[in-house]
Order: sequence, then C-alpha cells, then structure tokens
Amino acid sequence: MDLSQNIKAVQEEIAAAARAAGRDPASVALCAATKVQTDETIRAAIAAGIRLCGENRVQELTAHLAADAYAGAEVHFIGHLQTNKVKQVVGRVSLIHSVGSPRLLQAIDAQADKLGIVQDILLEVNVAEEESKGGCLPKDLSALAELAWGCPHVRLRGLMAIPPISSSPGANRKYFAQIRRSLVDIKAKMTDNQDIMDCLSMGMSADYMDAIAEGATLVRVGTALFGPRPPMGAAR
Ligand SMILES: *Cc1c(COP(=O)(O)O)cnc(C)c1O
Repeated sequence: MDLSQNIKAVQEEIAAAARAAGRDPASVALCAATKVQTDETIRAAIAAGIRLCGENRVQELTAHLAADAYAGAEVHFIGHLQTNKVKQVVGRVSLIHSVGSPRLLQAIDAQADKLGIVQDILLEVNVAEEESKGGCLPKDLSALAELAWGCPHVRLRGLMAIPPISSSPGANRKYFAQIRRSLVDIKAKMTDNQDIMDCLSMGMSADYMDAIAEGATLVRVGTALFGPRPPMGAAR
C-alpha cells in the first residue's frame, strides 16, 4: 500500500466528481478518517498532503493530540460522542460532526461556555432511520436545529449523515439528496447568517463520488487512503 499514491488518487477522484457535477473541486474537503491509525501514519498522511483529519474515538484523539501527531492539519471529531466525554473534545477540534441529541448539544454548549469559546458543530441525521445508528431522526432535525441556534456557545455549520453501507453502486444517492434538501430547508428557516451553514459532511470510501454528485462539501475517507482496518478490538 502506498499512502501518498492513495491520497493523490482520492484527491483526483474528488476533483473529477466535483467537475462532473459542475462544481469547483476546491468546494469539497477531504477529511482523512484516521481511526486505528498510528501517530506515524497520521504524520505521513499530512506530509503527503492531508490537511484535515477526522477522529472517531475520544481516546485516540487524546493520544494523537498529546503526541502532536496532527501538526500541519486541522482535526474534526466524527464519531459517536458520549455526553460524559465532551470535555475531552470541545475546544480541541475545529468541528464536531456527530451532534444528534438535545442532551449532547447542551453538554457541548455548556462546556464551550466554560472555556469561553464557540464550538462549531454539525447535526448528524440518521437518514435511513437505522436502529443501530446515532444521529437524530429526520423528523426531529428542525427542532434540534432551532435548539442549536439558541445555544450561544455553539455555531451550527451544517449536517452530517452516515447512510447504510451501500448494497449497490448509487444506492445511497437518494439519502445524500435528502440531506442536501434538509440543509436547504433549515437554512430557509434561519433569519440571518445563513452563510455559515454551508457544510454537508457525507460520503465515505464506498460512496464519496455519489455524495459529491449530490452536494457533499466534506467527504470522510478512511479505507481508500489507509487500506482495510483490522477488525474492531484487534491489537494495533
Ligand atoms: C470510519 C469512518 C469513515 C471512513 O470510512 P471508510 O469506509 O473507511 O472510508 C467515515 N466516517 C465515519 C464517521 C467513520 O467512522
């Protein structure tokens, strides 16, 4: 596996998908999903052009930050976040993608208040209404967005979704389109400052081309950059 070749290939595919959709390639950010990767691999990815890392697990985030492994890149939190762990994340990442409940939203707001900062967030939508997934149900999104606008220490930047593992090529396009429409709907209800609600975090290794075709501004890619991950819980 050649990491820098993979990065180049994914960057080229992103640019091609953007152009095919009549979009500026610079309007799509590549977020490297770095779960289970070592400090060395993260540093190598950044040396090879990665400018944004997405971390899933609080423990890994904390360890990589302590080792200064993300130097030269921005860091986002993209995984499930437990309310009792917000202290370890708020103020340490530039964007939290996975806010799916009023409780988590309020915990983030409270922690940001304590730090005297404003934390950028996305609302995660459980777009296919899967039992196993985090995120709010589509029907609850509008109320959650309104709650977020009322939180002085969070700034709502857009939406994130993780559709089902695609069974066939193109299977997730309808979900990506749904999320994009949801963002348009929410923006229509905002009274001001709509320009900051510009982020659509959707698409992973298997489907990021489709996500870009449907308007993704940020794709979270792991396997296509780093190769297959060991099974969860395996030694690393
Ligand atoms: C692991 C992960 C990704 C990347 O998945 P790949 O299929 O390896 O590209 C993207 N988003 C989230 C939230 C993840 O946990």
